[in-house]
Amino acid sequence: MAKIILTGDRPTGQLHIGHYVGSLKRRVEMQNSGEFDKIYIMIADAQALTDNADNPKKVRDNIMEVALDYLSAGIDPDKSTILIQSQIPELTELTFYYANLVTVSRLQRNPTVKSEIQMRNFEASIPVGFFTYPISQASDITAFKATTVPAGEDQEPMLEQTREIVRKFNQTYAPVLVEPEISLPDAQVCRRVPGIDGKAKMSKSLGNAIYLADPEDVVRKKVMSMYTDPNHLKVSDPGQIEGNVVFTYLDVFCKPEHFASFLPDYSNLDELKDHYRRGGLGDVKVKKFLNAVLQEELAPIRERRHQWEQRVPEVIEILRTGTEEAQKVAAATLADVKQAMKIDYFDDPTWITEQKEKYGN
Ligand code: ATP
Ligand code: MG
Repeated sequence: MAKIILTGDRPTGQLHIGHYVGSLKRRVEMQNSGEFDKIYIMIADAQALTDNADNPKKVRDNIMEVALDYLSAGIDPDKSTILIQSQIPELTELTFYYANLVTVSRLQRNPTVKSEIQMRNFEASIPVGFFTYPISQASDITAFKATTVPAGEDQEPMLEQTREIVRKFNQTYAPVLVEPEISLPDAQVCRRVPGIDGKAKMSKSLGNAIYLADPEDVVRKKVMSMYTDPNHLKVSDPGQIEGNVVFTYLDVFCKPEHFASFLPDYSNLDELKDHYRRGGLGDVKVKKFLNAVLQEELAPIRERRHQWEQRVPEVIEILRTGTEEAQKVAAATLADVKQAMKIDYFDDPTWITEQKEKYGN
């Protein structure tokens, strides 16, 4: 069976380092591994509108931002197909049919949607579109017959929902859909990167992110303002590592060679953590180290972004051709789906003959 990737992001803001380690960096690795037959990367603008219906400008403005983030992170348009969700009506049509296979109570149990509803203060007035976005996500994944979805931990319930829809569809109609697997980062800490304010998830909607496009001085300021251990007041105080996001980000980004380059008094992260726990190591020193580590990772991405920003007409063509190519694939799947559901009347000679015979002509 072909190995196919479908993954994407909502154009609700620029992409941040949580997206990068949770999904984007691995997409680039998977793209360059040559192990996959096709890679589709979707800018999920229709999904973004489900909780931003009154702010289409935000979504529209962020299409290019996300595309530039992809290209600067190393997505290669010759190897991966970048598409814009709303421009492929077949995805919406699939959603309409899949919706018949999902119950309201099943959607209500989705823990990610539950917490997103809380986060957005939607409790009493959830837009139907938002409530049902897991179904639309099943359409996006299955339209491309994706086998693999590289994503962060918050996407697990969506993948479970997709697999249920696939099984139900294949059982009820005919085996045309493919069950996808989520591909999570190996390191637990990369599956849900916390925000710089210590909140559980770095998110564009919470304003607690370090963006891939942030200039050097903005990254430095954000690092210096990061949440650490609120009880670690004096340098001599013993400090706590758990819940201290500076150390969480070091867990994500720090490699042993960074010590030789930026902090030669220590040889590895465990030593640094031990000293912090014992007391005698100040936040500023650790933050300066983290800043150096992050700048090293982000500098090449930032550099490539400056280059791509000079080539916007080319980026628009990449999006246009990617979307056109993807639309053809989605149309083929939709045709299979309608045939399986026996609602392909005009392409079905049996239906035509039956009607004629029934009425004797
Ligand atoms: P929004 O707040 O608009 O939902 P978001 O920051 O959650 O935005 P999405 O576009 O919903 O971003 O997610 C895109 C991808 O990035 C998904 O695969 C998601 O799992 C992953 N991702 C998002 N935030 C994080 C994070 N903090 N840590 C790890 N992965 C993340
Ligand atoms: Mg999200």
